[in-house]
Amino acid sequence: MRQIVNIKIKQIAMKAITNGYPLILKDAVEPIVSPIEEGSLLRLVDSFDNYVATGYYGVQNKGIGWVLSRKEKEKIDIKFFNKKIRDAVKKRANFYESEDTTAFRVFNGEGDGVGGLTIDFFNGFYMVSWYSEGIYSFREDIYQALNEVVKPRGVYEKLRFNKNGQYMEQDDYVSGEKGEFPLIVKENGMNYAVYLNDGAMTGIFLDQRNVRAALRDKYSKGKTILNTFSYTGAFSVAAALGGSIKTTSVDLAKRSLPKTIEQFAVNGIDFELQDIKVMNVFDYFNYAARHGLKYDVVVLDPPSFARTKKMTFSTAKDYPKLLKDALKVTNDDGIIIASTNNASFHMKKFKTFIDNAFTETNTRYKILEEHRLPEDFTVPHNFPEFNYLKVVFIKVIR
Ligand code: SAH
Repeated sequence: MRQIVNIKIKQIAMKAITNGYPLILKDAVEPIVSPIEEGSLLRLVDSFDNYVATGYYGVQNKGIGWVLSRKEKEKIDIKFFNKKIRDAVKKRANFYESEDTTAFRVFNGEGDGVGGLTIDFFNGFYMVSWYSEGIYSFREDIYQALNEVVKPRGVYEKLRFNKNGQYMEQDDYVSGEKGEFPLIVKENGMNYAVYLNDGAMTGIFLDQRNVRAALRDKYSKGKTILNTFSYTGAFSVAAALGGSIKTTSVDLAKRSLPKTIEQFAVNGIDFELQDIKVMNVFDYFNYAARHGLKYDVVVLDPPSFARTKKMTFSTAKDYPKLLKDALKVTNDDGIIIASTNNASFHMKKFKTFIDNAFTETNTRYKILEEHRLPEDFTVPHNFPEFNYLKVVFIKVIR
């Protein structure tokens, strides 16, 4: 039997929790005196011991668990997960019907009522990501519910949590057909090669779908593109398909070279006409400045935090500098696409980074468009802070 633990919500956190805030922050509850097993059900009560909500205990960097239900009698069982997944699938009906797009998020954690769990669809295959040992303890019920609701060709999973102090980021085949990788998925008619069996990342970040479409459709024709922190070159592919003169992809990971070649190849683009540089973006900026290289469009999509031998980069601290570096290699009237998935600051703060960088370099600018998470990455109603993605298209006016 699963342990059920009563936990008292602190007065200061009551309002948020009763308003539907789904995350159980460590500081929102009275100190936990005896250890709680991961996956225990939490009976959240107010200071008079009245029932408020049911959650589960699962430690992530964000908090100690998630609210699952606000009905005292509701059981957390297969039926519960079946309904959550069914509702989520129903919301994505348009994606399931689309022939142009065969990769999307089916279940977005807290936005679909179960924090710590995401499910992505890749051309018939499902990839389930588990973000704590606690949610992983519901694995059997959740897989049964998933199989009841959809008919997966095959299921793969990724464990994204610490187990016994060891970071587990493995990939695993779970059930059904075994995929042949790369699996080719479509996104707005573009092809992307994905791997569900190859480490932490699949080869494509699905949350940037609308940004790739905008880049292809509105900003690429006849332009030169610099794609920094390019990973598998997904933005470069979009630009090339949009008619760019040439793309330059820069990433320091060695694997980015074959991966980017592969993404071009599955789209019938001659990679030899594109530039792919395996190097540090900041070294590339210096190189480009020395050689007088400038681009019409510069894409900035750094990880939230990165450490190399020479330096550490944190978006929360170093984004203005990144923008200033980018400005040096952007043509007059060019465009900078500034992106971050750092959840620790909001759009407003991100825009002050942008404003600071442009003001300090005496450069005028105009924001052309803004993107947040696409609609399949559902965010809890009334809590926009879970919408971590921030992308701003900035026109440089010189
Ligand atoms: N923009 C990509 C995703 C970027 S993921 C896309 O849309 O698919 C972050 C990437 O930044 C990783 O591939 C990592 O290797 C790379 N990276 C981190 N620090 C870097 C640095 N200093 N210079 C170049 N690449 C870096």
